Amino acid sequence: MSDLMSDHDLSHILTHLGEERERGYDAVVPPIVQSGNFTYPTVAAMRAVVGKEFDRPLYTRGFNPTVAILRKKVAALEHAEDALVFSSGSAAIAAAVIAFTKAGDHIVCVHKPYSWTKKLLIELLSRFGVEHTFVDGTDAENYRKAIRPNTTFFILESPNSLTFELQDIAAVAAIAKGHGILTLCDNSFNSPLFQNPIDLGVDMVAHSATKYLNGHSDVVAGVLAGTHAHMRQVMAKEFMTLGACPSPHDTWLLMRGLRTLPLRMDRSADNAEKVARFLEAHPKVKRVHWPGLDSHPHHALAKKQMRRVAGLMSIELDAPDVAAVERFCDNLRTFLIAVSWGGYESLQWPICALQGPSGYYADLPFNMIRLYVGLEDPQMLITDLEQALARI
Ligand SMILES: *Cc1c(COP(=O)(O)O)cnc(C)c1O
Repeated sequence: MSDLMSDHDLSHILTHLGEERERGYDAVVPPIVQSGNFTYPTVAAMRAVVGKEFDRPLYTRGFNPTVAILRKKVAALEHAEDALVFSSGSAAIAAAVIAFTKAGDHIVCVHKPYSWTKKLLIELLSRFGVEHTFVDGTDAENYRKAIRPNTTFFILESPNSLTFELQDIAAVAAIAKGHGILTLCDNSFNSPLFQNPIDLGVDMVAHSATKYLNGHSDVVAGVLAGTHAHMRQVMAKEFMTLGACPSPHDTWLLMRGLRTLPLRMDRSADNAEKVARFLEAHPKVKRVHWPGLDSHPHHALAKKQMRRVAGLMSIELDAPDVAAVERFCDNLRTFLIAVSWGGYESLQWPICALQGPSGYYADLPFNMIRLYVGLEDPQMLITDLEQALARI
């Protein structure tokens, strides 16, 4: 019973941590402090707060009491000292990278990361004299081989987007430490419940909170977790300057979503396992990219560094052309055609819908479809997949 109310106890984090009920009208649910600014009884009291917006209320772009509760919960969930909340996951990733990068630096990033992480390096940072290399992260040594004298930052995303390849996080983090290189891991896919990169030696962890953390497809937000010193640096520089702060109301919705995170994660993972096994055995499915399957090339590593594998996967259909892929997709009735993921509803995202002039998805096969398995009755999802596969 000793850690009944400790910051390491999941139920305590989700239900109590940071919620100073005696300051909130004794309300069970924390209040939404929907105020853009804060007032002080005297000039001296205001002066005492200026420049201390990391942990004191002055103006909501910097600090807001509702947001502060979520910061504590996210930090505890990711075994970090502190956390920041952003208006999107992309804002969290961009702020984390830019805060520690200057002209002339070189960044090594896993290949095929989330599309806007890729664009951050290719389209934004390259304009400011920052170099980058994308590496096949399935061999940690590729990170080492890409190191140049000016390398300052490693970006990991394990599993990565769409192809669900894993990086050996502890091995990559150890290489970085040996060279004084900072590491950031995008952990959106796993949520803090299924993987904790900081425990494996990574410096900072980012999430698109839009996905599993919120879990209801009604908020766009992001979080970043790390040491007090790193979070202070991000706060002092990029957070305040770029200004991608969350609204107190969205933060409150996010905390509501967070309360059911353990239930949702287990259900999504259970359903994904059933769907993945069904698809793997089906003759019209050539390949299932889901690290939870024994047949996945990184299954052993997944077992080592992840507690469970979550609900996102890609499949490659045995389809002769794009028209056949579209027939399958258009006939699926329970998987909505949409981007994003992590909510209650199952989704499908056919790669062929995005293969256009931008060329960003040219390296992926036309017959690939990303599926997100939500919280529905798994038999309903499988029955639906079965009828759509019969129509290819
Ligand atoms: C969605 C997503 C992001 C970006 O998050 P937003 O909240 O949409 O800005 C980053 N990384 C991964 C893996 C994602 O799926």
